[in-house]
Amino acid sequence: MAAYLNDGMLLYLDHLVDWDTYFRWRKGDDADVPTERETLRVICDTAAEICASIEPAARADWEESARLENGEVRVPKHIADGYEKLREAGIVSFGVEEEYGGVALPGLVGNWILQMVARADAGLMTIVGLQAGVALDIQKYAPEELKREWLPRFATGEVQGAMDLTEPQAGSDLGAITTIAREDGDATFLDGEKIFITNGGCEVHLVLARDADTAEQSKGTTRGLSLFVCPRHLPDGTPNGVHVERLEHKQGIHGSPTAAIRFSGARAWRIGTKGEGFKAMLDLMNNARLGVAAQGIGIGEAALDEALSYTRQRVQFGTPIGEQPLVKNMLAQMVLELEASRALLYRCCALLDRNDAIAARLARGGVPEAEAAELEQMRERNSTRVRLLTPLAKYMATETCDRLTRWAVQLHGGVGFMAESVVGRLHDDGIITTIYEGTSEIQVSFALKEMSKGALFVVFDELRKELDELEGEPFDALAEKVRTGIQQILDASSALIQDFGYALLSARRLADAAVDVIAATELLRQARVDERRVDLATSWVNRRMLAVEMNTKRIAEGDVSRIDRCERIIGVYEAS
Ligand SMILES: Cc1cc2nc3c(=O)[nH]c(=O)nc-3n(C[C@H](O)[C@H](O)[C@H](O)COP(=O)(O)OP(=O)(O)OC[C@H]3O[C@@H](n4cnc5c(N)ncnc54)[C@H](O)[C@@H]3O)c2cc1C
Repeated sequence: MAAYLNDGMLLYLDHLVDWDTYFRWRKGDDADVPTERETLRVICDTAAEICASIEPAARADWEESARLENGEVRVPKHIADGYEKLREAGIVSFGVEEEYGGVALPGLVGNWILQMVARADAGLMTIVGLQAGVALDIQKYAPEELKREWLPRFATGEVQGAMDLTEPQAGSDLGAITTIAREDGDATFLDGEKIFITNGGCEVHLVLARDADTAEQSKGTTRGLSLFVCPRHLPDGTPNGVHVERLEHKQGIHGSPTAAIRFSGARAWRIGTKGEGFKAMLDLMNNARLGVAAQGIGIGEAALDEALSYTRQRVQFGTPIGEQPLVKNMLAQMVLELEASRALLYRCCALLDRNDAIAARLARGGVPEAEAAELEQMRERNSTRVRLLTPLAKYMATETCDRLTRWAVQLHGGVGFMAESVVGRLHDDGIITTIYEGTSEIQVSFALKEMSKGALFVVFDELRKELDELEGEPFDALAEKVRTGIQQILDASSALIQDFGYALLSARRLADAAVDVIAATELLRQARVDERRVDLATSWVNRRMLAVEMNTKRIAEGDVSRIDRCERIIGVYEAS
């Protein structure tokens, strides 16, 4: 069984991130980098130890759901106990800055912690993930007074957070939000209904609502939306107008409470600029997308461990089934997909961290003009890359989770289909990762939009630079195959310009091809510092560059009539 703090993470902790630059930019030239790195290691070890201890109760009480008692949400014991262990160790809201009482962990390390929590208890991860994300949004957008009020309480784990976007008529399309925000003097009040709100019984709600004074003009669009902090209690301790109407019964992640919330004249405090709440919420959503990607990886890892141990001990035809070539290939493919998804996710998180460090360096001042201009340029390019890598990382990690958990069920045979099967439950938990924080279809559509704005060129430019730096065998030959894949994608993408409908039709293929070459480059980077990973990178390149060729050939056909043919095909069935 892979360790909670596994090689895939240690590679980045020990080799693949330039921590020296990161800490000097973030904290100044006198940063004590060895001590900082040691602290990261201790935090990761602690998280790994806690998560391993959380896992047995989470598996045993998987069916336990949250309950609603007199308007208050009660989470199951395994969730409350797990949360308390993390809280006591100071591993909640891990992005909160030191000045507000937090530990300000790099995003990459925070992402590992979420992955570990998800592997142990996918339901608990949703609570910890949202708490960290909501705190980050308050830190970035709220006025100082609100930060001082809430962030120290997030850092100690006293309060938790929820993100309230979805309404019955506004799911993927948040422009349809109708929850209204009315100003009365200096105060603002919310009225409306939100559904599917994870951890909706918590204290601090971040709510996306439509400003009443511009509601008519902005109707049906994401303009005119503002973001609000809306607590369940007012400063004097009396209840605010935030009501938990009901909790949903779900197919998986039972320990995570999913609530319908009614706001009736709820006092709220705006964060960020009026009418630009959607932009601010995108920050939280992007962060949450990387969190859900971590959740996918964590659940996938748990399923892979189960599959490996079962196929070693289950004997059929006189040998363990894991010795059958077909099964061996499935297991190897599961490892490959998991490692490739991880590679893409970590690449994205590390870029975000680098940008945070650049921002801190520039904010401290005293940077010579030429260097500051260079840093700004780097930050801009990194932001462009992150905007494309984030939806791709979420898409890839969560689809991988779905496939891995499904294959883990398959490899358990009939046992996998039993109600109490761990892998069956992991599959039930994993499906949601491809749906919330934007479905897979929404992620690939977002990615397409970023590509059309030029992000693909920036991302590929960086890949080519990295590939050109690889030397010696087998790297030369592998890099050449990836370079060919990149060129095939660029050539094929010109077929998308002619028709927007055709571009949307091809968005999944294009996303698949893009993640294949990006993950390939990152796996090669890993293999350069850890020779045990050369086989991983080789196999990924050999398998996936064939898929890139196939996908890009299909895109390059540019056959716009396929959209109508889809319609006719559906018609054949419906008329039958
Ligand atoms: C357990 C759970 C927890 C959740 N937690 C939260 C939370 O904490 N806060 C919150 O605000 N929301 C939350 N949600 C809501 C979640 O984010 C939405 O369910 C999700 O965004 C999809 O919206 P929808 O369910 O309305 O589906 P729809 O938008 O109706 O989509 C249905 C299908 O149509 C597809 N589709 C829709 N539009 C397009 C398009 N333009 N192109 C291609 N395909 C499209 C979708 O991909 C999907 O396959 C949660 C949901 C669940 C189930």
